[in-house]
Amino acid sequence: MGEFIYLDNAATTKTAPEAVEAMLPYFTDFYGNPSSIYFLGASARKAVAEMRELIASTLGAKSNEIYFTGGGSESDNWALVAAAEAYGEKGKHIITSAVEHHAVLHTCQYLEKRGYEVTYVGVDENGILKMEELRAAIRPDTILISVMFANNEIGTIQPIKEIGALAKERGILFHTDAVQAYAHLPIQVDEMNIDMLSASGHKFHGPKGTGFLYIRTGVKIRSFLHGGQQERGRRAGTENVPGIIGLGEAARLAFSHMDERSRKETELRDYLIERIGKEVPYCRLNGDAGQRLSNNVNFSFRFIEGESLLISLDRKGICASSGSACTSGSLDPSHVLLAIGLPHEIAHGSLRLTVSWENTLEEMDRTVEAIKEIVERLRNMSPLYEDFKKQA
Ligand SMILES: *Cc1c(COP(=O)(O)O)cnc(C)c1O
Repeated sequence: MGEFIYLDNAATTKTAPEAVEAMLPYFTDFYGNPSSIYFLGASARKAVAEMRELIASTLGAKSNEIYFTGGGSESDNWALVAAAEAYGEKGKHIITSAVEHHAVLHTCQYLEKRGYEVTYVGVDENGILKMEELRAAIRPDTILISVMFANNEIGTIQPIKEIGALAKERGILFHTDAVQAYAHLPIQVDEMNIDMLSASGHKFHGPKGTGFLYIRTGVKIRSFLHGGQQERGRRAGTENVPGIIGLGEAARLAFSHMDERSRKETELRDYLIERIGKEVPYCRLNGDAGQRLSNNVNFSFRFIEGESLLISLDRKGICASSGSACTSGSLDPSHVLLAIGLPHEIAHGSLRLTVSWENTLEEMDRTVEAIKEIVERLRNMSPLYEDFKKQA
C-alpha cells in the first residue's frame, strides 16, 4: 500500500491505535463469556459494564439505557421496527425526513409494506428540515418521529432540540440517527428530548460492526434478537466484548479531544471549501454553510460525472466518495441531493470529501490541485461543456 490521502471519513474511519490496543487483551487474555460465573467471565462482564457507564455519561443518560448493537444500521432497524410494533395499537403513522440514511429509509419502506404509513418531510435547499412541514404532518395516530442528527452526505445538522421539543409537546416518540454526530458533537438526550438514539463505532475511530442504541427509560420497546438474556433480554447473543471495549475507548478519546479535533477539522474543511469554491469554475457547495459537520465538504461540478472524478482521484491515491452514494449498479443520483433541489445532471457531478483531524493542510493542497486538473480534463472531453462554451 503506497502513500494515499484518506478523505472518506463519513464512510468509515481508521480505528484508533488506542482502541485496538485496549481491545487486544479481550481476544487473548480476558476471553471469557460475560455470562459465565467464573473469574474470566466476571472480568469481561466488568469491562462491558464500565464501557456502558462511559457511553451513558457522554449523553447524560443512565447506563441501563444503553444497548450495545452490531452498528448503526442495526440500531436504526431496531428503533423503528420495535417502536412500530410496541406502539402499533396507538397508531400506525411515522414521520421521518427525505434525507435519511437508507438504514432508516428502507426500514420505513419495510414498515409501509406491513400497514404503517410514513410521511417523508422535506428539507430546504441547504438540507435543513422544514419545521412547518413537520408540524403539519403530525396526526393523532403519529407514534414516532425519526430525524437524523446530521446528514452523512452533505453534513447538514438538523434542529434536533426543536424537533425534540415538538415531539415531546405532542407526546410522540423521537428517534435520531446520530451516527454522523455522536462523538463529533456534544449531545445531551434530556436537553434535546431524544427518546432513542443510534450510533456506530466505526464512524468515530472505533471498530466496525459495533454501535449502540440509547433507549430512554419508560419507552416501550420490543426485543430485537431473541435468545439469551444479554442486553437485559432485549438483544440476545454473546456480547462482542473486544468490540464494545474498542467502541468505548474510541468514545473516551473522542470526547476528551472533541474541541481540539473539531477545530482542526473545521480548519481543513474551510480551507478546502474556500480553495475549491474559488479555483474551480462552475461548482456549487452542497449543504448548509453554518449548520454543518466539521468534517464535511460536498461539491457539485457541472458538466462532469462524479464517478469519473472519483476514479481519477483514486489513480492519484485520493480516497473520496461521490456525493451520490450510488450503490454499484444503480445510476440514480443521491436522494439527498435531489431533496435539496439539485437537477439530476448536477447531482451526478458531485463529490464528497470528509476529513479527519489527522489530515494535513499539505494533503488538502494536493487534493485541490488534483481536483482542478481532473475537472478540467474531464470537462474538455465533455460534449455538454462544449455546447455550453459555444452558447456563452
Ligand atoms: C454509516 C451510517 C449508518 C450505518 O451505520 P453502520 O454502522 O455502517 O451500519 C447509518 N446512518 C448514518 C447517518 C450513517 O452515516
